[in-house]
Amino acid sequence: MPELPEVEHVARQLRADLIGRVIVCAEVLWPRSVEGLAPVEFAGRVAGRRVIDVGRRGKYLLIYLDGGTVLVVHRRMSGNLTFVDAADALPYVRVAFELDDGRWLLYTDPRKFGRLTLAERTHLNAAFPALGPEPLDKSFTPQELAQQLAGRRSPIKAVLLDQSAVAGLGNIYADEALYRAGIHPLRPASTLSTQEVQALHAGIQGALRTGIEHGGTTFGRHRDVYNEAGTNLEHVEVYRRTGQPCPRCGTPIQRIVVAQRGTHFCPTCQRGLV
Ligand SMILES: [Zn+2]
Repeated sequence: MPELPEVEHVARQLRADLIGRVIVCAEVLWPRSVEGLAPVEFAGRVAGRRVIDVGRRGKYLLIYLDGGTVLVVHRRMSGNLTFVDAADALPYVRVAFELDDGRWLLYTDPRKFGRLTLAERTHLNAAFPALGPEPLDKSFTPQELAQQLAGRRSPIKAVLLDQSAVAGLGNIYADEALYRAGIHPLRPASTLSTQEVQALHAGIQGALRTGIEHGGTTFGRHRDVYNEAGTNLEHVEVYRRTGQPCPRCGTPIQRIVVAQRGTHFCPTCQRGLV
């Protein structure tokens, strides 16, 4: 499932290769991939529009069109955007955008959970649920993280997955951030010390930056816009490494379930419940 680094990597590629292009037409092949408006209306509102910017908020990709409309893409489980030379170049195409340079930008999604919608630039926040701060913004300080954790008694792993606390983290980077910080995933969020919050802040930013640097983590379907897999799986330290030695101390990595998600940690480096 694409998290912040997978979406950010794609946003950066689109910023370099999509800005300035005009969407000649759009074809919606699976109507439920488009949310909040009829497929014919969706196609009508993007046709003839030029892409003027590309951004991201949490796990949402934002494609800004001239005229004030924003195409919001939430890839969820298995959605990808890919540049190709023909509309039928890939399987599982749900929405196809023909571009003015002869290429197509295809939205493919075998599991069909992803959603595309249109929002007005002036009312963009209405397109999302309430999202917490962006963890790579300058305004995201350890103090800001402490405020988000205050009063939350749930396990810290569950709080990190909650998009209203911090935007963009999912299962991979939450596990990696907690490992980097040396914090047990079951610790109640509100019990972290100031020092631990600082370590977690650094762990979140470090894990996300490493992910972006390697084009995201691909163990399933995440591909970039040129259909290339990310290589960050070679750089994760605990995620999906159950039974393998901890990179720091050699203790076998353990897997438990927190908030219904498989959670990977080192029982030696990430001390438990005091
Ligand atoms: Zn360890």
